[in-house]
Amino acid sequence: MHHFEPAKIRNVVILSHSSAGKTSLSEAMLYHSGAISRMGSVTEGTTTSDYDPSEIKRYISINLSLLPCQWKDSKLNLLDTPGYSDFVAEVKEALAVSEAAIVVVCAVSMVEVGTQQVWRYTGDAKLPRFIFVNKMDRDNANFFNTLKDIQAKLGPRCLPLQLPIGSQKDFQGVVDLVTRKAYVGDPLKEAEIPDSLKGDVDSYREKLVEAVVEVDDELITKYLEGEEITGEQIHKCIKEATRQGKVVPVLLGSALKNIAIAPLMDAINDYLPSPVEGNELKATNTSKNIEEKVEPLPQGPLSVFVFKTTNDPRVGKFSYFRVYSGTISSNSQLWNVNKGANERIGQLFILRGKTQEPTPQLSAGDIGAVAKLASTATCDTLGSKEHPLKFAPIEFPAPLLSMAVHPKARGDLDKMSTVLPKICEEDFTLKVQREADIGEILLWGMGETHLDVAAEKLAAKFGVEVTLQRPKVPYKETINATIEAEYKHKKQTGGHGQYGHVVLELEPLPRGTGFEFTEHVVGGAVPRNYIPAVEKGVNEGRMEGILGGYPVVDVRVTLVDGSSHPVDSSEMAFKIAAAQALKKGMSEAQPVLLEPIVNMAITVPDTLTGEIIGDLNTKRGRVLGMNPGDGVNVIQAQAPLAEVQRYAVDLRSMTQGRGIFTVEFSHYEEVPPQIAQKIVAAQKAASKS
Ligand code: GDP
Repeated sequence: MHHFEPAKIRNVVILSHSSAGKTSLSEAMLYHSGAISRMGSVTEGTTTSDYDPSEIKRYISINLSLLPCQWKDSKLNLLDTPGYSDFVAEVKEALAVSEAAIVVVCAVSMVEVGTQQVWRYTGDAKLPRFIFVNKMDRDNANFFNTLKDIQAKLGPRCLPLQLPIGSQKDFQGVVDLVTRKAYVGDPLKEAEIPDSLKGDVDSYREKLVEAVVEVDDELITKYLEGEEITGEQIHKCIKEATRQGKVVPVLLGSALKNIAIAPLMDAINDYLPSPVEGNELKATNTSKNIEEKVEPLPQGPLSVFVFKTTNDPRVGKFSYFRVYSGTISSNSQLWNVNKGANERIGQLFILRGKTQEPTPQLSAGDIGAVAKLASTATCDTLGSKEHPLKFAPIEFPAPLLSMAVHPKARGDLDKMSTVLPKICEEDFTLKVQREADIGEILLWGMGETHLDVAAEKLAAKFGVEVTLQRPKVPYKETINATIEAEYKHKKQTGGHGQYGHVVLELEPLPRGTGFEFTEHVVGGAVPRNYIPAVEKGVNEGRMEGILGGYPVVDVRVTLVDGSSHPVDSSEMAFKIAAAQALKKGMSEAQPVLLEPIVNMAITVPDTLTGEIIGDLNTKRGRVLGMNPGDGVNVIQAQAPLAEVQRYAVDLRSMTQGRGIFTVEFSHYEEVPPQIAQKIVAAQKAASKS
């Protein structure tokens, strides 16, 4: 695809609830543009967009796909995104580099939870948008009911730009309300508006015109005075009203039957903004430390934002980028503004699904990819050292669910540790956490499917088979009483004996203080040179408490007394004595189990508040407060980690995906005795087996 002026580019993200037909619609648009000669099918796993084995296996999109095509004299960079909320990172990346969005709604299932979610994302990103009502050919498809649902749930400003001709198996095409022209069939032909539709065409056209002329003061006066508004004027107003978000045009069709796809593509060209008409864009000029407006000029200072990275051992690292200003060339050298380092740029590519077309250059407004960048990561800006511009990073949500990852083959542990960061480099909603206390590596993600797919990636791309298990809870142990504990380690086995004798004082400290060792030995009862050995013994001993072998915290241990033998004492003997004294002392000082408590902020539709609080009660949670607002309630709560490790899964099923939450560690608290007994018994049984 040759070079396009920024005004002739449309970067459009396609979003929806799972299965509304994004991938099929993208495929249909590619087909209509001539970019592909045969339409692939989601069910047969042959679409341009979903080519990854994990996508074909699940019939869902997991990765965002770049699907460029030429429509008339414009280049459409379509970005097909996953509808499943686990893969929100891909959606955020696509939103970050698009000027406009198409939200696909199924004409049978209408507005779903996922539709509302992506609607919010496009609203937050302030993107002009279209709604495309798909699957008009399906049994039970109903455009007018779907429109009602859209207007009720997404807002009354969603107004039809087209009306359907026929429905379900008789669905034939659309009437364009601006031109009053009808288009039917595949291939598309102009046709007469059916008589039965003429009344509706007039009334819906009137509503559309009335809403869009609001953006032009002169026109609105003319309109109110009853003057005729020309097609060209309406056209301009629709574009401006869409840009300002005052109107969201609703279009319709059938991706599967290829009906009304060309009118949608015309509307993208006509009404959605190019990079020149998009929202104003700012970046930080790091040499002057000032915000600067970025103009989409091919001759401007170069600024290239990397919005996605993929890692594949066969092809290496691929960085997807959008050029915001200037022109990037193959085989050049750029400045990575975030890293403060030079970056060598090899061959540039235009990606279409998995196919790669080499290109010598890409200019402002366009999207492409480059392989094997040395230091560049997602969210970095590439440009020139002389005029360094840096864009704000994409905001990704924090991961919500963790699982412990174990390699299936013991020998793969090192390899697993080196490849885990690579999959996190691809997806900023995956995080690796090493839990030294429990000896596990945790993989954090947005939900179960997300983590399963990450495990599949580790196997398919890097040859490391792993299992995912519920993580162990990092319990700790402490004491509730102050006591003195004495231990004499004495052995006489011919020759040299062993002698170490210590008296330790154990006292509880306030929660969260940690562990302290001090000494208060009078008169050299324990010679100074053995004190470090005592400390070592205590520190080793505290790593395994006496209840369940968990680390001991919030205790001060003071060496207060002891004795030594001129010949038999040794560092080893004092270390053993200290560890044993600690153990003995712990068992007599009212030992208790501590568990981590987390802070949670749970946002749910207010109708579900009662159910969510009821569930928190069964999880030993405490509600700390509630902030109602705009149909939702934000519940502030605390709960033991052990009870909410899988809250991402529980909340999704309780709210059908409408709830969101954040979670962070707060503090440790004593586990209630009956529960502690069970935990200790289970831990003992596990360590025996
Ligand atoms: P996505 O998850 O939003 O990308 O949706 P897909 O494109 O994967 O489509 C989900 C399912 O709906 C697949 O089985 C498609 O064949 C089917 N589908 C998509 N578009 C249409 C359509 O216009 N009409 C009918 N009848 N089925 C469709």
